Amino acid sequence: MPTRTPADVVRSAAASTDLRALDAAVSDCFACPRLVAWREKVAAVRRASFRDQPYWGRPVPGFGVPDATIGILGLAPAAHGGNRTGRIFTGDRSGDVLFAALHRAGLANQPTSVAADDGLALRHTRIFAAVRCAPPDNKPLPVERDTCAPWLHRELALLAPTLRVVVTLGAFAWAAWWPAMTTVYGVPAPVPRPRFGHGAQVSVPGVPDLLGCFHVSQQNTFTGRLTPAMLDDVLARAKRRAGLA
Ligand code: SF4
Repeated sequence: MPTRTPADVVRSAAASTDLRALDAAVSDCFACPRLVAWREKVAAVRRASFRDQPYWGRPVPGFGVPDATIGILGLAPAAHGGNRTGRIFTGDRSGDVLFAALHRAGLANQPTSVAADDGLALRHTRIFAAVRCAPPDNKPLPVERDTCAPWLHRELALLAPTLRVVVTLGAFAWAAWWPAMTTVYGVPAPVPRPRFGHGAQVSVPGVPDLLGCFHVSQQNTFTGRLTPAMLDDVLARAKRRAGLA
């Protein structure tokens, strides 16, 4: 049964007993009318360079291993990236930067991520987004963020036995972490909330460590605000926090 309301999201997320079931349920979600209309419009109109390709045009589930020790939390799929290929950070410039860095860190078997069947596999890592549908201008509304949150919270709960550190890409993902901390781990979020910054770290007993990283958007990587070395440094820290280095 497709998920059509916020209450459906809560029920369907809670009923997902493993990541495979969760991924399938996420992919069949229609709970945010504005985002459903946008993802489908983008998939129908397409960008000229991808006009001969079918677009996924659905929510994009998490990607990676089910016993991940490192989580990477992004904002939302890109209209012509994940929304086209059906895999998070796949088929766009942001993914080019992220997966090249994951490969350098030994967390991915190849440095590129171009299509869902390209052979990419992650090691020790799972990537997921705070909002699972591509939003106009990459800006989900607060109500869409809140409607989608149960998917993220369930994913974190299913990963809880192994997850040791979460790298948040950008301030939106950083902010999405605090409700997750309370809902998933039963730990009150710090007051005041720690400020997002590249390299910021929050360690709370009983909760995966949180590491802040500038988003791998073209706006950041083309301008040099986020360099490959900066990304390498965050991933090296994540590996240490996860006991992998
Ligand atoms: S953003 Fe999340 S809750 Fe909203 S339709 Fe997409 S998957 Fe469903």
